[in-house]
Amino acid sequence: EVRVRFAPSPTGHLHLGGLRTALYNYLFAKSNNGKFILRMEDTDQSRLVPGVSDMLEEMLRWANIPPDESPRLGGSTGPYVQSQRLPLYQSTVTKLLESGAAYKCFCSSRRLAWLRNAAVQQNETPKYDNRCRNLSPAKVEKLESEGTPYCIRFKLEPIDAPLQDLIYGPVLHNTAELEGDPVIFKTDGFPTYHLANVVDDYHMGITHVLRGVEWQISTTKHILLYKALGWEAPQFGHLPLILNKDGSKLSKRQGDVYVDYYRSQGYSPLALLNFITSIGGGFTDREHNALLSTDELIEKFSLSHLTKNSCRLDTEKLHQYNRINLERDIRNPTKLPSLVTQLHSLLKTKYGERLTPGVAEGGMGKEYIGKVLEWSEGRIITLHDMLLQSFSYLWVVPQELPLDSLPSIPCPHAVVLESMQEVFISNQNNFTKDEIVKTIKDIGRRLGVKMPAIMKLVRMTISGLKEGPPVGEMLEVLGREEVLRRITHALH
Ligand code: GLU
Repeated sequence: EVRVRFAPSPTGHLHLGGLRTALYNYLFAKSNNGKFILRMEDTDQSRLVPGVSDMLEEMLRWANIPPDESPRLGGSTGPYVQSQRLPLYQSTVTKLLESGAAYKCFCSSRRLAWLRNAAVQQNETPKYDNRCRNLSPAKVEKLESEGTPYCIRFKLEPIDAPLQDLIYGPVLHNTAELEGDPVIFKTDGFPTYHLANVVDDYHMGITHVLRGVEWQISTTKHILLYKALGWEAPQFGHLPLILNKDGSKLSKRQGDVYVDYYRSQGYSPLALLNFITSIGGGFTDREHNALLSTDELIEKFSLSHLTKNSCRLDTEKLHQYNRINLERDIRNPTKLPSLVTQLHSLLKTKYGERLTPGVAEGGMGKEYIGKVLEWSEGRIITLHDMLLQSFSYLWVVPQELPLDSLPSIPCPHAVVLESMQEVFISNQNNFTKDEIVKTIKDIGRRLGVKMPAIMKLVRMTISGLKEGPPVGEMLEVLGREEVLRRITHALH
């Protein structure tokens, strides 16, 4: 059975890179009838951020890529939080010490700092000089009995074969030549990432490790650890780097790399999933720009189609996907009501008491909001766009315009408005854009006001805007009652 995992450290919010790793693991698991596991790697206690672990899990659920086993759900190979698995790491490290694959290192932090300093001065990459590898047993015993603090390091052996990366192919990284022996157990009694990661992947029966390419260098160390422990290693595949559109590094410091940000801006999870998979390949016959459902993503997923080139995210794509998704939902009678409810609550939060009665009212308001959403097709990217200033006239009465900004016409403005009022009250015909335009035209002709001027006057009176959708459309969407209310208000 295929078993894969997403193993974030609960040190911060989920970002797009993390979401992509989780998603590819999910797709790989589901396209192989396998299991997708969520594990919290919290061995670096100094970097923990409270509450993040729960949020990460909740975010996967929001994105519709829920784990099968997780800290919250549990599962047969739990617990799924590393700080709850300490005895397992302890017994493993004891095994490594006994077999001679690991050793106690008593070097003080001062000595390590000296080493680092010396390397930096020589323009070399700092590395541990493996001094404690060769301490005599008597010396070790003495240092221990004196209570000298120590960590445990893993003896890196030269590798005999390149890593067979599922995505990158053969990768040779002779880590023993390039690096000092890594710490696998710290003085604080916690394992480091390398040890805990290997021990858990093994005990959780992970068959494939798919993670960002920034972990590729660690993989050689992990393979050596598996070997030293006599365990069969899983297969490894590394996902290419994601960059901004301009080729710069996706920095977690910018708010817009966090999944939270997109969620709060009203992007749909499906659009986001399509967005992060739109680069880097990984799918067979994927139509350019088509929005795929999660099931379709699973069905078309193919690990061998992933590229190893770094890929650039283009937010324009996200907008396209979200627009397609939103339009689809608006046209779907089973989905529209929930969009209406969402928008209703966004509007209440933004405008409160100022909402016009037609919007605020329960049932009627919802009908109106639904109508507006149908009209909005092609004009918005997210539901939240309906809160933009240019749409505010749909929800609240615009501020009164200064008279001198109205177009100058050969009769008083009020006369035009009164005529409209009269016709709209007496003529109960359909309040459609064609009818409305015809009415305004007739009035203009009768009063000797030219079309562009009368249209401008009506638009400004009703919406407070100098530009916007065609006047007929604008009034039709608002509805007869609200239009009359606004005329009355303006004439007041
Ligand atoms: N805890 C590591 C991270 O934060 C996991 C890397 C891996 O998947 O092995 O991404």
